[in-house]
This record gives sequence, structure tokens and C-alpha cells, in this order.
Amino acid sequence: MASPWIDLHSHSTASDGTLTPTQVVELAVRNNLSALALTDHDTIAGVAEAAGAAKKAGVDFIPGIEISAEFPAPGTLHILGYGVSSDSPVLHEMTAKLIEGRNNRNPRMVAKLNELGVAVTMEEWEAESKGDVLGRPQLAAILVRKGYVSSIKDAFNKYLAQGAPAYFDKERLAPAKAFEMIRRSGGLPVLAHPAQLRTENDAQLDRIVKDLLDLGLAGIEVFHSDHDDAWIAKSTALAKRYSLLQTGGSDFHGSNKKDIDLGTARGKRIPRELYDKLAAAIAAQSQPSKARV
Ligand code: AMP
Ligand code: ZN
Ligand code: FE
Ligand code: FE
Repeated sequence: MASPWIDLHSHSTASDGTLTPTQVVELAVRNNLSALALTDHDTIAGVAEAAGAAKKAGVDFIPGIEISAEFPAPGTLHILGYGVSSDSPVLHEMTAKLIEGRNNRNPRMVAKLNELGVAVTMEEWEAESKGDVLGRPQLAAILVRKGYVSSIKDAFNKYLAQGAPAYFDKERLAPAKAFEMIRRSGGLPVLAHPAQLRTENDAQLDRIVKDLLDLGLAGIEVFHSDHDDAWIAKSTALAKRYSLLQTGGSDFHGSNKKDIDLGTARGKRIPRELYDKLAAAIAAQSQPSKARV
């Protein structure tokens, strides 16, 4: 019988994780997971490799992506796109634009670090990344290795977090555009880790979810490493209220987030049922004859 546990939120070396797509799948097997989604930031460059490894290993697989959309500070709005098609020109256009946004931001962060007396170069950051998506956790890992900070967390607190001295924002997609691009790529848009919206109260959270519904929201991430019991309850209630899919994942990044293991979100395992429902919804919307009326 298939293991009752899964993980629908993971990052590989295609973005800012430290395990290759194949190694993420191998860890899924070791951690007794029966299904996995790879959701790298701004790219699907890892999904073909992960899909191949998952097939060999007998792990069910969903191709995914995670996109950071425009949202007022101090919150962040991340959208997961599940079931996106790797041969979609729309998707390639979108990822190219997002990576360009990073490439405009990253040298500014490095220049600011240099100004602050931290010797680091774009070449080092590029060498730290195995793919085209250069993210802050890789830069943080370099600062740890060079002894400027004691941990990745320390690197964010001192330099890289939103509001810290070497932080610069990157150009993002408006939420409507991100949703449209995911839908046009054959994917289902899901609100990632609603806790990170940093909403002030439940009414504000409800309003945001309603706005996203108008844009085509299909689901809400319920289990996540940032979600305590209260956030799990809130997210579940929202999903039920608006008939949305419930998803869950660890947000695994390998050693770039040392305290997160694949398949576990704040000490909780993620039930297989969430994969089954998501996979069914992806299948239903990719078959026009069975499309929702
Ligand atoms: P980037 O894509 O370069 O904007 O970096 C985003 C990555 O940095 C994601 O994996 C975030 O979870 C991580 N991140 C953002 N803020 C922090 C923070 N304060 N501490 C640790 N990781 C963070
Ligand atoms: Zn990340
Ligand atoms: Fe995220
Ligand atoms: Fe993530």
C-alpha cells in the first residue's frame, strides 16, 4: 500500500535548494513519502529530472512552481502553480521575466554588501547556484562559509531580509498576471503559506482570499513549516468556506533551511489525501470535456 504521507512544496538546486531534483526524490523515498511536488522559485528547470526519478522510484509526482507576486510589506504573497506544462510558451516567457527581475536585483545586493565591508562577488553567487535562479539563501550560505555571519538566519537578520541593509526588492508580477500565467500554462494557482501574508486580522485575510478567488484561486496551503495549529485551522476553514483545495508541504530547501526535513511541516506529516484531490483537480481541468461548468 502507498505510504499515507506526501510533500507538495519542495525546492531543488534548480532554485535555492541544495539537493538536486533526483536527490529530492531519493529523500522522498527515504522519508517514506508516496507523492511529491517540486515547486522551485521562478523555474521548472528541475521538474523533468524529478519526474524521471520519481517514475523510477514509484513516487507520484506533480510538476510545480512558486512565484512571488506584488504585495505590500511586510507581507509576502507566494503563489504555487501545480500541474503546469513544461512545454508551455507562456510559462517560459514568465520564468524568463522573473529571472531577469532577479538578475537586475542581485548585483545591487552584492554592491551594497561590498559597501558594508562584506567581500562577496556575483561570480561566487553564480557558483553557489546550480541553475539560473539566484536566490538569497545561496548568498546567505556564502556569508556563513566566509565567516561574516553565524547562520543563514543570521545572514537574513543582519543583511538580507526585507528591511535589512542589503535588501533590494525584485520586480514581481502583479497577482492577476501570475494567476493568469499559471492558468494559461495548464496549472492550478494555490495560495502558499498564508501566514506569510502577515495579515493583521481574520477579516483582512478573508478579504485577500476573496480577491484571489476572483483571479482564479484553486487552493490554499494548509500544512507548511510556518504554520502552527492556529494557521492550519484558519487555512482549513478558508478552504472549506470557499470550496478550495487544501495542500501542504514542508518548503524543503536542503541545508539552506537546516531545520526543515522533506515530508514534515512543523512536526506534522502531510496526508496523502491532499495529493489525491490535487491530482484529480489537475486531471479534470486539463481535460476540456470534463471541465467545470
Ligand atoms: P529570493 O527568492 O532571493 O527573494 O529569496 C527567497 C527565499 O529566501 C525563500 O526561500 C525564503 O523563504 C527565504 N527567506 C526570505 N526571508 C527570509 C528570512 N528572514 N529568513 C530566512 N529565509 C528567508
Ligand atoms: Zn526558497
Ligand atoms: Fe514561499
Ligand atoms: Fe517555497
